Amino acid sequence: MDPITIFIVATLMMLANGGVLGLMHKDLPVSLQPCAETWRIATLLLAGSAVLYAVQYELPLGLVSPMANGMVMLGCTGYWRALRQFDGAPDRWWMWLPALAGIGGVLWFAGVQPDTPSRILLLSGVVAFVLMAGTLQLVRGGTGERARSRKALAGLFFLVGLFVLFRAGYFLVRKVGPSFDITGEGAWINTASPLVTALLPVVGTTAFLFMCSQRIGRQWELAAATDYLTGLANRRTLLAEGESRFATARRGGAHLALALVDVDHFKAINDGHGHEVGDKALQHVARQLQATARGLDFVARHGGEEFVVLLDLGQHGDAQAAGERLRLAVAGTPFTADGASLTITISAGVALQADGDTTLDQLLRRADEALYAAKRSGRNRVELAGG
Ligand code: GH3
Ligand code: MG
Ligand code: MG
Repeated sequence: MDPITIFIVATLMMLANGGVLGLMHKDLPVSLQPCAETWRIATLLLAGSAVLYAVQYELPLGLVSPMANGMVMLGCTGYWRALRQFDGAPDRWWMWLPALAGIGGVLWFAGVQPDTPSRILLLSGVVAFVLMAGTLQLVRGGTGERARSRKALAGLFFLVGLFVLFRAGYFLVRKVGPSFDITGEGAWINTASPLVTALLPVVGTTAFLFMCSQRIGRQWELAAATDYLTGLANRRTLLAEGESRFATARRGGAHLALALVDVDHFKAINDGHGHEVGDKALQHVARQLQATARGLDFVARHGGEEFVVLLDLGQHGDAQAAGERLRLAVAGTPFTADGASLTITISAGVALQADGDTTLDQLLRRADEALYAAKRSGRNRVELAGG
């Protein structure tokens, strides 16, 4: 195939990908739409540059080259921006500087002082820089998401960046003259160029969409496992974690202790300050419990104004003391609402797993009885469950 045909095929593939993304991006969650939109525009810019290379003989070459070069640099910067948006990094004006400086330089070396090697070197330098910045974003950015699609895309960015540098070196060594033509036949590198250029818009777009889909999957999993109001583990996650720890303890592992925590007179906070303040109070209590948790302690919202802490007591841990730590943390940290400082207290029933407990539910029931005793004896107390 001659390079022009390859350019046309590559263009069609890029346009198809950009088009598909254009149709699909509204189906993505609102949080992912901006980066998908940027990715789409970047893909269309690269497709546009390939169109220009394909039809260059119909247009003045001095016009086509700088335009196509500019679109490549802007498109690659668009990909970099899309990756930053995906990671929630803020937009920065300086990201566009390499591309803008590159466009200025390309115009200069195409029109004012024609110099093809300098133009190619400049274009390659800018594209390689931006692609390496994209690679770095994929490797270092993100919130611990280590999806395979992310690694694949990082590899792709890096390889295309390397190819661009290699290509620049090749042309420099070959000492291309002003009549150099990117679509000229004969040089294998001219055949490889459109294929490699199409990698990011085509294969890269697939990897990018996989990254989006993995993000959506993770968000669903997280939403199903956590409590919406406090961000703590929800009852479903608590029961799964509790069952697993209960089974380990029964097999002779560590002692399991469970603290059932209930906010004292919580209804009065709701009644006196409104439901919204009540919600904030629950978030406040959740924060105190979480901050007091130690080691493998597991804090969850059991429901309403009740929390459960699975206590990691180690070998000689004191369950009563662990419960007291939770109680003091909440009672000792004032909660400010409506400009007033409220003291919130909790009562807790703490149960240590005993041989008689055959299910987690039994342990929970004993903790509940101890909690009831704590409430009966005046609240802001911790009671240890009997065996
Ligand atoms: P006690 O000291 O005996 O535990 O008294 P209490 O007022 O804390 O207990 P009660 O069971 O009478 O009231 C609990 C209240 O918690 C009733 C319910 O409306 C409120 N509640 C449950 N879930 C939420 C929530 O998510 N947000 C808010 N604001 N209130 C909630
Ligand atoms: Mg309650
Ligand atoms: Mg209560």
